[in-house]
Amino acid sequence: MIDDRRGAQLVAALGSVRARLADACIAVGRDTRDVTLVAVTKTYPASDVATLQELGVLDVGESRDQEAKGKVAELGSSAQAGVLRWHFVGRVQTNKAASIAGYAHAVHSIDRLDAVAAFAKAVVERATPLEAFVQVSLDGDPARAGAVGGEVLRVAEAVAAAPNLLLRGVMAVPPIAADPEAAFARLAEISASVRAEHPEAVAISGGMSADLEQAVRHGATHVRVGTALLGRREPTFS
Ligand SMILES: *Cc1c(COP(=O)(O)O)cnc(C)c1O
Repeated sequence: MIDDRRGAQLVAALGSVRARLADACIAVGRDTRDVTLVAVTKTYPASDVATLQELGVLDVGESRDQEAKGKVAELGSSAQAGVLRWHFVGRVQTNKAASIAGYAHAVHSIDRLDAVAAFAKAVVERATPLEAFVQVSLDGDPARAGAVGGEVLRVAEAVAAAPNLLLRGVMAVPPIAADPEAAFARLAEISASVRAEHPEAVAISGGMSADLEQAVRHGATHVRVGTALLGRREPTFS
């Protein structure tokens, strides 16, 4: 039962995010069930994940392995029972692939061949495939995450070829100050080019608290929402 103050906050925030998603879907004639809400719970405690789970949010996003692993352990049996689906959305360090593969349902941030190789090795023993999104760059800035140009298809190809990795589609974080409308239109084009080679890779992970409407308009199947659900995060320097 959710009867505390924090619980009431999460109920209200989730209601408003779900309403935004529903409105965004209706506006373009899409079915709300085709868009997965991933609650990005980084910096927030496992108790918030438990509350959201009670409210029917089963997809949870984290961006740091150590923090994610801690919450998975804290939530214990419910997570282990596979009720929650953990989505790793942060920058991938290859030496963390084995750890991430130990709890994650999906990794949204595979942007290089060495990361594919690390995950391909890490998933050999898994009972179910690890879902993988190729993170793409929308501005070609090499300092930021995301595959650029022909790299996108090379990374997708490597994921598709790896047993126990399941190529789901593409992911992007629009550049700061970019027009989200243009950014998600570009992501949709990149998605189409990947689907031309890999018809199964239909997923598009795009859209965060500020721009989920534009993402849904351009075909996002997964939105990764933190602030609008959980509140403003303390600034971090990771
Ligand atoms: C933190 C984070 C989000 C959530 O962003 P909000 O603006 O808080 O909704 C989404 N995607 C990634 C990759 C993130 O790191």
